[in-house]
Amino acid sequence: MGNPRVIYWFRTDLRLHDSPALEAALDLNPEAFWPIWTWDPQYVYRARVGTNRWQFLLDCQNDLSKSITKRNKKSKLFLMREAPQTLFPKLFKVWEITHLVFEKDTDAYARDRDATVKKAAEEAGVEVIIKSGRTLWDSDALVKKNHEKPTMSISQVQSAGPKIGRIPRPIPAPESIPDPGEIKLDFEQQQPESDPDFNNDSRSHGDKSYERISGPNGDFAVPTMEELGFPTATSSHRGGESIALKMLDKIIADEKYTATFEKPNTAPTAFEPQATTLLSPHLHFGSLSVHEFYWRVQDVVDNYSGKASQPPVSLTGQLLFRDMYFGAQAALGYSFCQTLYNSHCRFIPWHLPSKVDHTTRLVTGEYHIDSAQAEEWFQRWKYGLTGFPWIDALMRQLRREGWIHHLGRHAVACFLTRGGCYISWERGAEVFEEWLIDHETACNAGNWQWLSCTAFFAQFYRCYSPIAFPKKWDKDGKFVKRYVPELKDLDAKYIYEPWKAPIADQKKAGVRIQGEGKEEQEGIYPKPMFDFNERRDACIDGMKKAYKVGLYGDDPKVIDGTWRKL
Ligand code: FAD
Repeated sequence: MGNPRVIYWFRTDLRLHDSPALEAALDLNPEAFWPIWTWDPQYVYRARVGTNRWQFLLDCQNDLSKSITKRNKKSKLFLMREAPQTLFPKLFKVWEITHLVFEKDTDAYARDRDATVKKAAEEAGVEVIIKSGRTLWDSDALVKKNHEKPTMSISQVQSAGPKIGRIPRPIPAPESIPDPGEIKLDFEQQQPESDPDFNNDSRSHGDKSYERISGPNGDFAVPTMEELGFPTATSSHRGGESIALKMLDKIIADEKYTATFEKPNTAPTAFEPQATTLLSPHLHFGSLSVHEFYWRVQDVVDNYSGKASQPPVSLTGQLLFRDMYFGAQAALGYSFCQTLYNSHCRFIPWHLPSKVDHTTRLVTGEYHIDSAQAEEWFQRWKYGLTGFPWIDALMRQLRREGWIHHLGRHAVACFLTRGGCYISWERGAEVFEEWLIDHETACNAGNWQWLSCTAFFAQFYRCYSPIAFPKKWDKDGKFVKRYVPELKDLDAKYIYEPWKAPIADQKKAGVRIQGEGKEEQEGIYPKPMFDFNERRDACIDGMKKAYKVGLYGDDPKVIDGTWRKL
């Protein structure tokens, strides 16, 4: 093989610091080096990526591109507007590529995509180098050391992880980046006549390939929200490696916070600043390396003179949870993110918002709710109009800002599933997928399963009250007043139960508690959509029955539908 001509494919690692894959690519000493990001249709055209997450991604790409250019004026992050599966086979030929390098991604869809790309590379004689760097330990290796089983508890991660080895120390960012080769996109000549599909494509696009792939200005720039046709993002949380590293520096500078962090003691009602690190979207996009995060924290803990907290509640413990969900997904693949075919997810006959399923009644007895009622509850939950201010404030924060505290996620997830509406966790996970800026397939599905007591956690009788729980953290209701402005002047003693406020108090606060919560309206806040205590008891009863029946997502009775005959 001649001098290496390398494509570095950025995906889950939008950073220069601590990237084992980038280091491997640069170690090849390339004569030409193209740092690229491809237009992945799974991401670009899927409906469930809200504008806040798009903005965060573009921020990360812009920041990375600038950092590359700082190291080499001729280079940047080249945004190629075509799917990797179709783009790479063409690039391999016209750019005379010898190596393709990228960070390992164990998401179910990513594995399929990468297998297609790898096959095309092999056919083109291109060597593919893949390095793990997204998790503390390589998720496949974690599963292997967990007796080839999905990691379903922290103790399994704590036992399997060290058998792989020590968590790697971070690698510094490279000081220089090699020149890119020429960016030719004259694909037509490269394709064999015998491929009718391709010929169609190349003839119709012809010399427009360049324009199509390089963007409106023909410069492979990071797209703007305008180019993508999106409205302005509403979140103030911004992406990029530079911001992520500054945020981490600030956290680490506070030794006491870093060393004594205990997740259950952080307030879900805190805002500006929030009580936890808010580094999750940076870990998701790879603008912060998880190894960098881990070791910066661990070094503080090791040198701390006081009593440091320990996993699972400590900061490094939080990263173990992340690895646990990645390990579960790596082992179970697509089925991890749904109930059906999922051998580890309990089957619960939830109320079905989308279609009437009379047979549900057979399992849940008198607690069956028809589809129209369930759909209304679901919509009111999604748009923060349940009439329970704590739930509504959280859901509005999520929609506006793309992030809520972990215990806030607990509260709304429990309320939608086993602690209120009795609606499937999969509906809730879809909303989170759309609105979270840190949406991570494995963590989202896994945590929803945890909260709905369908996997990981089974204490379904422990429900979050939308009244008593927030009172513990925020007696004055500052959090609610911020996100539910209709209630901003209401006396704090009614803030979590505004329906109890006498008319005179409602008038004084300029709000009326009335209506069915169809939309947000100035001066009007809805009545609660149900009696919480009644619903909690109904849910617990339903869960008890479902646990007794004991079906899982891969049970033949669930798969062929005969469970309905129970
Ligand atoms: P910190 O408390 O500062 O923790 C540091 C890091 O540890 C986080 O950035 C995150 O990467 C990781 N972490 C912490 N808790 C968890 C956890 N329970 N599971 C996995 N990783 C964790 N997290 C996501 O990253 N993406 C998701 O899509 C996601 N969906 C969730 C859905 C539900 C229903 C629930 C209950 C939790 C979900 N979480 C998800 C986990 C957790 O709520 C967030 O990671 C955390 O709140 C992010 O805030 P932070 O960065 O301030 O966390």
